[in-house]
Parts: sequence; C-alpha cells; structure tokens
Amino acid sequence: MDVTLARAWLDAAADAIAAQADQLTTLDAAIGDSDHGVNMKRGFGAVRTALDGAAPDGVGAVFTLAGSTLVSKVGGAAGPLYGSALRALGKSLPDGPQVDAAAFGAGLRAGLEALRKLGGAAPGDKTIVDAYLPAVDAYDAAVRQHGGDADGGLAAAARAAATAAAEGMRATVPLQARKGRASYLGERSIGHQDPGATSTWLIFQALADAVAP
Ligand code: ADP
Ligand code: MG
Repeated sequence: MDVTLARAWLDAAADAIAAQADQLTTLDAAIGDSDHGVNMKRGFGAVRTALDGAAPDGVGAVFTLAGSTLVSKVGGAAGPLYGSALRALGKSLPDGPQVDAAAFGAGLRAGLEALRKLGGAAPGDKTIVDAYLPAVDAYDAAVRQHGGDADGGLAAAARAAATAAAEGMRATVPLQARKGRASYLGERSIGHQDPGATSTWLIFQALADAVAP
C-alpha cells in the first residue's frame, strides 16, 4: 500500500458512494433520517478535495488527512465514526511512502477499534461494525494465507475483506438495531439492511477494486 494506491482507494470509495448515494439514503429513510447518502457523498467529496489540495507524501498522512476531513465536514453519526477510523489507520502506520500488507491490516484494525471506542457498538448491534469487523478478520486470515505472494497478500486480502463485508452487510437485515437512530425504532428496525454497514461494504469493495483494477 503506497500513497498512489491509498489515494486511488479513497477516490474509488468517493465514486462508489456518489453512485450509490440515493440507495444509501433510501436505506436510511427506512430506519433513520434519510441523510446517510448525502452525508457520505459530501464527506468523501471533501476528502478528495482535501487530498488534491495537500498531496501528502506519506501513506499514513493520506489517511490521517482523510479522517480529519470526515470528522470536521460531516454531520450525523457516520462522519465522525468513519473519520476516527481513518485517522486511527493513518496514525497507526509507520512513516514513509509505503507500508506492507500486514501493517495495513493492523491499521485497518486500529481503525475499527477507534470506531468502536467512539460509538460503543458491539457486533450484532446493526451498525458499521457488523461489516467492518468481519472484513478485517477476513483480511488478516488472507494475509496469513497469501503473505508469500508478490504483493504480500494485499490483493487476496482486499478481495476477502470485500466479500466478508458484503456478507456482514446482508446479515444486518434480520437484526434489531441497538445503536444509533435506528435503535429508536426497536423491533421495527428488523427486516431492513443497515445503511452504515452498506457504506462500509462499498468502501471495502472500493479497496479491492483499487488494489486489483
Ligand atoms: P445519523 O444516524 O446521525 O443520521 P448517518 O445516517 O450518516 O448518521 O449514519 C447512520 C449509520 O451510522 C447507521 O446505519 C449505522 O450503521 C451507523 N451508526 C450509528 N451509530 C453507530 C454506532 N454507535 N457505532 C457504529 N455505527 C453506528
Ligand atoms: Mg441518518
């Protein structure tokens, strides 16, 4: 993972979120307040602008700037949550223009921990965590298995993470929300796919696409 790939990932995520913004908003209309697509589109658009303006030369600095931008520019729950995750990812990486697949995986997990610390959600609460946690577990398992590949297993790990995030996203449908706005609905939150888990899947799918276009 280097600076170019980090930026390609965030660009691909911004594109996917912009393309799916209406879908994210429709999901949020069912169990929230219809702003998830708008929030995420504005946030990742601001990330793109910030990175174009600053052009950081360290891979960690790319994610730290992206995270700080999301925290400061996006209202709602998801902006600070994703922003904290990206900032923790950036801060956890060693200095320099590139990091190996294992260090990047450790950074993704540091991001998850920051997000959980801020939001307090456990697995099964019908949140971002339900897609993000299985994604990092699958990433790590794939790096252990494919660490001998030329890229240290990055492509296999990114693909595995995207697949696991999709499964985690679909598995939110029967859950009752216990965090965030959807929790106000109680049992009426059952039967709907969580918007945040859906944007998490888009972000991991964008990683897989950026790594192996
Ligand atoms: P808001 O709920 O403030 O309108 P968004 O609509 O942008 O913010 O984001 C809603 C998504 O945020 C939910 O679908 C859920 O996945 C995620 N979310 C909400 N609260 C938490 C939390 N405490 N921990 C993790 N994710 C959360
Ligand atoms: Mg909302």
